[in-house]
Amino acid sequence: MASVEQAPAAAQGGTGIPVENPATGETITTVPTLGREDVHELVARARAAQPAWDAIGFDERGRVLRRAQKWVTDNAERIIATIVSETGKTYEDAQLAEIMYAAAAFGFWAKEAPAFLADEPMKSANPLVKGKKLVVRYRPVGVVGVIGPWNFPLTNSFGDCIPALAAGNAVILKPSEVTPLTSLLMAEGLRAAGLPEDVFQVATGDGATGAALIDEVDFVMFTGSTKTGKKVMERAAKTLTPVGLELGGKDPMIVLADADVDRAANAAAYYSMNNGGQVCISIERVYVEAPVYDQFVAKVTERVKSLRQGRSDGPGSIDVGAVTFPPQLDIIDKHVRDAVRKGARVLTGGRAGNGPGMFYEPTVLVDVDHSMSCMTEETFGPTLPIMRVGDAEEALRLANDSPYGLQASVWTKDTRRGEQLARRVEAGAVCVNDAQVNYTALELPMGGWKSSGLGTRHGAGGIRKYTQQQTLLVTRFAGKRDPHMFPYKRRTTLLLGKLTRLLYGRGKRD
Ligand code: NDP
Repeated sequence: MASVEQAPAAAQGGTGIPVENPATGETITTVPTLGREDVHELVARARAAQPAWDAIGFDERGRVLRRAQKWVTDNAERIIATIVSETGKTYEDAQLAEIMYAAAAFGFWAKEAPAFLADEPMKSANPLVKGKKLVVRYRPVGVVGVIGPWNFPLTNSFGDCIPALAAGNAVILKPSEVTPLTSLLMAEGLRAAGLPEDVFQVATGDGATGAALIDEVDFVMFTGSTKTGKKVMERAAKTLTPVGLELGGKDPMIVLADADVDRAANAAAYYSMNNGGQVCISIERVYVEAPVYDQFVAKVTERVKSLRQGRSDGPGSIDVGAVTFPPQLDIIDKHVRDAVRKGARVLTGGRAGNGPGMFYEPTVLVDVDHSMSCMTEETFGPTLPIMRVGDAEEALRLANDSPYGLQASVWTKDTRRGEQLARRVEAGAVCVNDAQVNYTALELPMGGWKSSGLGTRHGAGGIRKYTQQQTLLVTRFAGKRDPHMFPYKRRTTLLLGKLTRLLYGRGKRD
């Protein structure tokens, strides 16, 4: 049995997957690759542990989650160091987007789970159920499998486990093979917070480990590429297992002529380059109305040129970190080369950095169009292609000309017009004069349209998906036989027909 879920990250040795620091190229440690049998055993343990975890109720589970919240803040430096070492990101990207998220999420789900999953007494207008007790309740699915990506090992991988646990499920997390250490550290944190044994386990491994997990669990929460997301859904269909999919994006930014160009330029530079551009809701392409195009491009280029890139040595040391996933470097470069070959100009950056470590220079591209992959495919790197457009309608048409629909932003001083335009963008979330920060409001649903996903995280839907709805109907006062029961009688049938006409037959005719 190659289980690693109880072992501290530093103790992982032997054969398996080497975990590298992408900013230095050094191997940190090795974690085991769990096979089908290992996964089966983890799931069996999770199934055995889950009923007791469900039975202790929201208050007790909330206490564990609040202790875990405190553990995260008490151990923030250690978690940041682990995240930075396995992703190569900056200290700030780990602190702001991961520690703050996880700490908030533990508190949010501890507080909100009882309300989101409370029994809902219902009333029905149908006379057949008058006087009966009608209730909708939410019951945990059992064992949830979370399959996570490498860009945010805490927020995007582990984050989805928190509502699943709050709902009363046992959870098995399969982190990306390149970033397993944060998940193992969080297993230690949950144990310290008093989570019962086997309620949360980590299955380190590769794609095959993820596939084995899909076959065994009661719900699969997947975050990653659209290509793999389709494979996950196909696999889950074999056992009719429900899935939640948070997939890729190609988020458009629309800058109107009346925008605050300074704010828009600062935001464009930040929200395209933070976390090295490896954010599912990164600004990936910009459409700027002609009157402010030159000014916007100049300001963005100036800001991007000044970014410091490298290995993080603590707070404030660099602005842009490494490329976490080795094949990603080729994808980014391919998009830039394709654009240049088709006539784009590189205003800054445009090359992979010199080793050691994997870096791509923060890059601004102009003279781009939709014949180029940098405008149509997810780049997932520190690049920003900017396109001039004639008017808002052209920007909207191009923004919607995408298989993706994760998130978007509109920039204008006329917020009424901005909101009207936002409502016409085909995306699960649209900001006006902002970007990405909606993700921190855990009350707001976050989910992609089109090829960007299925279902939502956050909000009521972000926890109800980990449950099965159960309808309860309780008849307290009733006779021996209801009128509609056997034997059918002509008089009763005609009466019921009359009743139907009386109740529903008075609709207005045109
Ligand atoms: P993947 O979608 O391939 O991987 C995500 C997770 O799924 C990983 O844990 C991976 O394991 C696992 N996995 C891979 N194959 C299977 C399978 N057949 N069944 C079950 N699980 C599987 O993402 P990549 O890491 O390969 O990144 C590729 C692209 O995805 C990026 O270029 C980027 O465009 C996009 N992406 C989007 C993210 C988002 O937040 N929406 C996050 C990360 C990437 P393992 O890593 O061990 O192979």
